Amino acid sequence: MIPKTEINTILGEYDHGKITVGTLGSHSALNIFKGAKEEGFGTVCVCKKENEIMYKRFPVADQIIPIKEYTDLLHEDIQRKLKQANTILVPHGSFNAYVGTEEMIDQLHVPLFGNRELLHWETGRDKQREWLRRAGLKLPKIFSDPEDIGGLVIAKFPGAMGGKGYFLVESPEVFHKKAEDMVKRGHITKENLENIHFQEYIIGVNVYPLYFYSPLTHEVELLGMDRRYESTVDSIGKIPASEQLAINVNPTYTVVGNFPIVARESLLPELFRMGENVVEVSKKIAPPGIIGPFCLETVITDDMKIYTFEISARIVAGSNVGIGTSPYAYLKYGEGMYMGRRIAREIKNAIANNELEKVVY
Ligand code: AMP
Ligand code: AMP
Repeated sequence: MIPKTEINTILGEYDHGKITVGTLGSHSALNIFKGAKEEGFGTVCVCKKENEIMYKRFPVADQIIPIKEYTDLLHEDIQRKLKQANTILVPHGSFNAYVGTEEMIDQLHVPLFGNRELLHWETGRDKQREWLRRAGLKLPKIFSDPEDIGGLVIAKFPGAMGGKGYFLVESPEVFHKKAEDMVKRGHITKENLENIHFQEYIIGVNVYPLYFYSPLTHEVELLGMDRRYESTVDSIGKIPASEQLAINVNPTYTVVGNFPIVARESLLPELFRMGENVVEVSKKIAPPGIIGPFCLETVITDDMKIYTFEISARIVAGSNVGIGTSPYAYLKYGEGMYMGRRIAREIKNAIANNELEKVVY
């Protein structure tokens, strides 16, 4: 991991009056850039040439650094350009998915908003589970041997694949058949199968609370809530059961978009407690703990039990439903607050208090 002292030295060389906010052009970049601009920052978009059009048509990127592959972000000349622009990078799901956590932590010498070390805790399945368990959250049972399948489970793979390739099975026999079919159809690779794990499938509705923790104010904020729109699982209900059986559908979970949610108000105290517990434990496992956005992926059952099946310790794309505003951000801030802007506001406050080192790693 790049030592914090090195990041502090780079920050020391930055012109704090000319800090820019940068990120990879994908995932939640529009959200991050718009928020940065609304807080008065210049923005730098590192993006694939073919995607430039979007960051120009939505006028959010002041500077565009074109790249061929996402991993080019690690190239020395790209990193030099970012440092010359006094850039603080805001990591999102594409950093995990396309650059790689190890690479980011060890090779990206540009200051990052957030806690580098926690990214390990997010992407390591066992570490993530330990974190959530220590926070006292209710978790679905998990295991990795297909022979232990007895009851409905969801088969998953590590990394931020956005639900791609997940499938449901209820017995070892069905698993072997479906796994082969998924590989044949190109949804997953043989290598994915080696890293597979199974989670007890919780029947309930998905709710993803979108949190922000400020190490400056020491408060956990709830800024939004969403659920995903997933192909094909969200379309299966449109097909009558007889046709489902006839065509032998195998639901998949590729995320295509998100819907905003407002939860029953009586669920909110527990959601706040869960967020606070997760932050408290993060301070112990990877000091100074969570900085900025995080999201719990939950399923809520008909007896109002909240199960958590994942955590993202960074901005999630679901927060894009709040660009502009959301009911929860409105309750806290009034109009015009959302995750991208909240991140920029934190950087701005940190600069004003001379505390940038507290939010950048
Ligand atoms: P993309 O740039 O759209 O390919 O997304 C980068 C990574 O983030 C991929 O692993 C996606 O699956 C994931 N991702 C993108 N958008 C969403 C979303 N709305 N919800 C959850 N995951 C997402
Ligand atoms: P993930 O990529 O882990 O966020 O999961 C993708 C989708 O799979 C979620 O949006 C849920 O619809 C579903 N899902 C994941 N894990 C579970 C679980 N343990 N029980 C029920 N549904 C799940």
